[in-house]
Amino acid sequence: MKKVFKGIEKKRESGEFWLDQLKRKRNEGPFLSSKRYTGFSESTKSVHAGQYNDPTTNALGTPIFQCSTFSLSEDKYQAISEGRGRDEFIYTRYGNPSQWSVQEKLSSLENAESSIVFSSGMAAISSTLLAILDKGSHVVSSRDIYGGTYNFLYEDLDRYGMSVSFASPTDIESIEAAIQENTAVLYFEALTNPLLKLIDIEEIVKLGAKYNLRVIIDNTFLTPYNCKPLDLGVDLVVNSATKYLNGHSDLIGGTVSGSRKLIDRIWPQLLKNGGSMDPHACFLLERSLKTFALRMRAHNANALDLANYLEHHPRIKKVYYPGLKSHKQHELAKTQLKGKNSGMISFEIEGGDEKAHALMEHLKLAIEATSLGGVESLISLPYNTSQASLTKKQQEKIGINEGLIRLSVGIEDIEDLIRDFKQAIEQIF
Ligand SMILES: *Cc1c(COP(=O)(O)O)cnc(C)c1O
Repeated sequence: MKKVFKGIEKKRESGEFWLDQLKRKRNEGPFLSSKRYTGFSESTKSVHAGQYNDPTTNALGTPIFQCSTFSLSEDKYQAISEGRGRDEFIYTRYGNPSQWSVQEKLSSLENAESSIVFSSGMAAISSTLLAILDKGSHVVSSRDIYGGTYNFLYEDLDRYGMSVSFASPTDIESIEAAIQENTAVLYFEALTNPLLKLIDIEEIVKLGAKYNLRVIIDNTFLTPYNCKPLDLGVDLVVNSATKYLNGHSDLIGGTVSGSRKLIDRIWPQLLKNGGSMDPHACFLLERSLKTFALRMRAHNANALDLANYLEHHPRIKKVYYPGLKSHKQHELAKTQLKGKNSGMISFEIEGGDEKAHALMEHLKLAIEATSLGGVESLISLPYNTSQASLTKKQQEKIGINEGLIRLSVGIEDIEDLIRDFKQAIEQIF
């Protein structure tokens, strides 16, 4: 039986929403520099796409448009009345050249028609879900998702008259079983924290098509360098730009990318929730993205080498990394990631959490901190950070065993990283 929920579509089509009564052009963008570098490879796109060079001064690089507002004109009034406000500069919460520039670079990297940057990953995720869901609608997701997203789905949806069910991200049948008459969205993370489970994006997309659902993927752990969910048929992809996209552990940001039609639907939610990205943060993000492909290559290569080293170390009980043959979904990783297996590793050390703490103390390079995706290696224990709200029993039930360590492998030289782990492990046993 095909279960279909058309509530949100009907309401939108009947023209109850202000924005849907307006005639809008559905172009790519909006952009200042229309150069997408479509057809080019990742580093070329990272360096060039979206950059706006000031035509008055010929200054190279997008200026920081540090302004809150823009002078109005007849054209702009006209655009507002025709619902084309997203294509004009009116007020920085609505749009700003610094935002447009980095949005274009992201659209180029994601192969998206349109993107929006937000003040945080959570601003992107909450605004996207609130824009796409309608009162009464239901989401299927999993418990293996970012804590902030889990709390939003579990604690807040109910207050908006929406609901959520959680299924196993690696069990497509359990996901299908969780779909109800009023399900509107399938929401999953492409690579989960901390056990680095992959979801089969193509299978999820097939389910979405079968039941007429939107598929939203948080791709923070993989990034568009390792996997492009939109190319696989996903409707919307969200990222915490705080992590790999910015990559320098010095800003908070978020992104959503997809068709211009859907992104135009999220934009009014951004205006209401107010999570716009500040122009200076846009500058930092665009600047950081120029080395995005270069950084990701280094993260991936270092992680694979270090995962191999750790797997062969007698004191390490288990290593979770999609690039290893021992990973339960290594075959899926091969087709979905094509050898680009991310910079994240989780592993279990002998001697439980006590030895895990001792290891972190003896490492000279990896810094004990939450977050990930920076140029520096970051290390943390899921039991007292990302999974701290669960009891020990609940943790073990989902595979968070004693001694589990999560490592975001930086771009330091691999021989230095291996030497550091070697000396730290030797010292604690
Ligand atoms: C960090 C993170 C978020 C939240 O991003 P913020 O920028 O901290 O708001 C969402 N999803 C995943 C997978 C993350 O790692």
